Amino acid sequence: MNVVIRTESPELAPADPLDHLADILFHRMGSDGVYARTALYEDVVERLAALITRHREAGTEVMRFPPVMSRAQLEKSGYLKSFPNLLGCVCGLHGTEREIHSAVARFDAGGDWTTSLSPADLVLSPAACYPVYPIAASRGPLPAGGLRFDVAADCFRREPSRHLDRLQSFRMREYVCIGSPDDVSTFRERWMARAQAIARDLGLTFKVDQASDPFFGRVGQMKAVSQKQQSLKFELLVPLRSEEQPTACMSFNYHRDHFGTTWGITDAHGEPAHTGCVAFGMDRLAVAMFATHGTEPAKWPIKVREMLGLAVHASADAHIEGWR
Ligand code: 5GP
Ligand code: ZN
Repeated sequence: MNVVIRTESPELAPADPLDHLADILFHRMGSDGVYARTALYEDVVERLAALITRHREAGTEVMRFPPVMSRAQLEKSGYLKSFPNLLGCVCGLHGTEREIHSAVARFDAGGDWTTSLSPADLVLSPAACYPVYPIAASRGPLPAGGLRFDVAADCFRREPSRHLDRLQSFRMREYVCIGSPDDVSTFRERWMARAQAIARDLGLTFKVDQASDPFFGRVGQMKAVSQKQQSLKFELLVPLRSEEQPTACMSFNYHRDHFGTTWGITDAHGEPAHTGCVAFGMDRLAVAMFATHGTEPAKWPIKVREMLGLAVHASADAHIEGWR
């Protein structure tokens, strides 16, 4: 007799180690990997963002991007060659008034209105740094030493999951360097050291390891191997559910001259610019904090509380003491 095990059923699915956080940190919104956030959670996200801001290098230009970007720019960046399965595309009812009415009438009659949708010129940004390269290119040749940016965006990747560390919609903060190969490799080395200091200050258990992106398909697997061989990606991994399958909370990426060549950015020597970025997964970092230290920030270790501005300094405590 065959026994059918229905693991997709929520009641029978094995509990995930992060599940207990769901009701405390989030409100469900009817789709896996898309959540409303509680004040408790959001406060920690904001404090983490402020901590990352305090580490910003001098001479870094700040830009904040909306959750959508130009479809043409993402296509030109080569995204469809690498992760076509993850892309979310904006679409709309672009027809005549009559066509739009008839799509809505179809829905009212219990039918499918979405067959009338057509793609817009926008996609949901899959990472925060894509829009910065064409902006940098529009400024002409790079100055000596290159350029550095601080960017952030709500990002989207179409990979529904019930796991709290695999969201479809999540916040990404990045520091980006555009310059000579030397500018970018020293930038990445500095940030790999700094990011580990941040993780230590946050009381997180972690390791930094070589990584590859989840390139699509069989050819993608070869790209992933080559990316690893060239040490183009490292990740800061936190064992949220197990040591064997740790969660990447930050990544340190070297794109070589990919974006420089694509957008015609030249360095101070007239060579195609190299680029690199350090990405902080704000939602994963926040989930990591609650998973590590518990759901009551008031009970987090004092050093961690101080880092996040959650605790008054020992001296301030003494001062307050004096007034009692
Ligand atoms: P990468 O471009 O390296 O894949 O992503 C940069 C960072 O964004 C990751 O290190 C991670 O912290 C965050 N990130 C990537 N995918 C997801 C996801 O599915 N959910 C969440 N919450 N964060 C993600
Ligand atoms: Zn990036």
